[in-house]
Order: sequence, then C-alpha cells, then structure tokens
Amino acid sequence: MSPSPLAQLDQQTAELLSTIDALTSLDALRDVEATLTGKRSVLAALQKSLGSLEPDERRAAGAELQEARRVVTAAFDERRRLLERDARLESLESDRLDLGDVVTPDVVRPLAPGHPSLVAITQRELEDVFVAMGFTVADGPEVETDWYNFEALNIPPAHPARGMWDTFYVDLGEPETVVLRTHTSPSQIHLMEEAVAKGTLPIHAVMPGRCFRRDTPDASHLYAFHQIEGLVVDRGITFGDLAGTIETFTRAYFGPDITSRLRPGYFPFTEPSAEFEVTCTICRGEGCRTCSFTGWIELGGCGVLDPAVFDAVGIDSTQWSGFAFGFGVDRCGQMRHQLTDMRALTENDTRFLEQLS
Ligand SMILES: [Zn+2]
Repeated sequence: MSPSPLAQLDQQTAELLSTIDALTSLDALRDVEATLTGKRSVLAALQKSLGSLEPDERRAAGAELQEARRVVTAAFDERRRLLERDARLESLESDRLDLGDVVTPDVVRPLAPGHPSLVAITQRELEDVFVAMGFTVADGPEVETDWYNFEALNIPPAHPARGMWDTFYVDLGEPETVVLRTHTSPSQIHLMEEAVAKGTLPIHAVMPGRCFRRDTPDASHLYAFHQIEGLVVDRGITFGDLAGTIETFTRAYFGPDITSRLRPGYFPFTEPSAEFEVTCTICRGEGCRTCSFTGWIELGGCGVLDPAVFDAVGIDSTQWSGFAFGFGVDRCGQMRHQLTDMRALTENDTRFLEQLS
C-alpha cells in the first residue's frame, strides 16, 4: 500500500501558516497569494492527487484537506486585514498636518486692513461740509414706489421728464409700481411727510445715497451712482438763500478760489430751476479740455420748491417756502481727485484702490 498523499499535511499546513505570519506588506502578500491559497498552491496539488485513492479513502482525505484549506485561507484573510489596517494608519499619519507647519509667517501673509472707497470718502467730506453749515443728514430707501420717485415730485405717468430718468422697474403686479430710485429726491418727500406728521417743520437736511438709472457705463456715467441732495423748508426762503447756500458750499468743499454760478434750468419739482456750475478744478477757470475751454464744470441742479410738491405732502405753500439742490457724489470725487474715468470707482482694480489707503 502506497503512503497517503496527505501524510505530510499537518507539517505542510504549519509551514503555510508560518509563511503567512511572516508576511509584512500587502505587496508581498499579493506576490505569494497564488502559491499559498491559489491554483499553484501545495494544497491544490494535493487535491489533484486524491483522484488515485479508493472512494472511501478519498472522501475522508477530501474532508481533511478541505479543513486544512479553510484554516490556511482564514489565516491568509486575517493577515491581509491586519496589513491593510496598518497601511491605512500609516497613510493617515503621513497625511497629518502639524498646525505649526501651516500657521507660520512664511505661509500666511498679514491681512491688509480695509479702507473706505473714494465714494464713501467723498460722501463723508460732503456731509461734514453741510453739517458745519447747519444741515442734518437724513437717509432714505433705495427701492421706492412710483409715487415717491415720480408722482409726488410732480412727474405724473405721461410726463416727458420720465424719459430723463429711465430706470429699473420691478414688476410686483398691481397696484404698486416699484422702482430702484433714480435720484435721492424721494427722500425729500419722506422727510417732508414725516415733518408734517410730527409737526417738526422747518427742515434743513441733506440726503446722500445711491441711485440707479438705465445708463450704459462710460467715462462719466454709471448705472449705479451716488447723489447728495439738500432740502430747506422754512418761512420766507428765497432764491437768494439757495444761491448763497450753493456758493458757501462750493468754497468750503473745493477751496476759496473756486466759485459757483447758476444758469436757468428745468426740473419738474422746482420753479424756478437752475443748473449750477463751479469753476473748473483742473484749470482753475483758465479753460481746458475737461471744461471744454469754458472754465466751468456743471455739478448739479437746484431750484425753489414747486408749490405742487408742497401740495403732494400737505405743506401749506402760503406759509412755507423752500429750495432743493442735488449733485453727484461720484462726480465730486472725480473732480476733486482728477479721475479721468468714473468706471474706476466700480471696477475694483487694486492698483487704483491701493492709492486710497
Ligand atoms: Zn478746465
């Protein structure tokens, strides 16, 4: 009788298990997988040799061999699980960042402190001038109803002046038409309504703020821009008070060698109305390209309040009179800082912005 093919099985199994125990990397494990548990393994070869046995012997030997394969495969899988866990821990450890490596002066540049924009700087300077002249500073909403932006200012729906202030309409359905305000003048209506309701007339106030028109941006226009508007409602106010206020402001803001002049103009909410111009700040009145060689630059509009506006807010125009004026904050900043293109105010070009810090 020939010796059983499984005579050495215990020893062979022990050798396989010690080989598996000695594996220290996943690469090595993959290299020997076929010879430990696969088709090229010693156990697979033993399986083939069972074919020569008698059926009874073969069944017993088969069960014995199957148990050996189960033990070896389980040991192999367990070894793989441990090696995979080690590899994962190692990779986590090597990916870990030490906070001390990250937060060092070499890596993080110091934060540059922010500063106001040219428009904000200009607005504050203008407010300072008017506060020194006895005005208060008032605020108003940037989104208005058609009534406040147009009708209360004596600009009914079909009025041609609406073409001058074509704007962004917000369709919220009937009954209210809502617009992004085209000028700061609606703030005047709010202010007068409030003064009437509270009985706090007279009014001496300026109202700075952002306005919107459907303009294509160019060197001297922006679709969003800033105005500052002045309103005086008191007893016995005349056009002379208006002219004196404009002149006082001009000298205070631009300097004593800059003066103002008024030319007849038209606004629906003032009568009479005037455009006001100041001495060209580039040539100081000599004449240059910026002022088209006139020596003057148009800054804004003004006028004596139309009694129709008083009627709209319930102020008795036989008792009270007043004037209003308004001009561009952006334009003032542009003139004072000799900025050739207004679009620089909105383009966030850091080369320009850094000059203001
Ligand atoms: Zn000039």
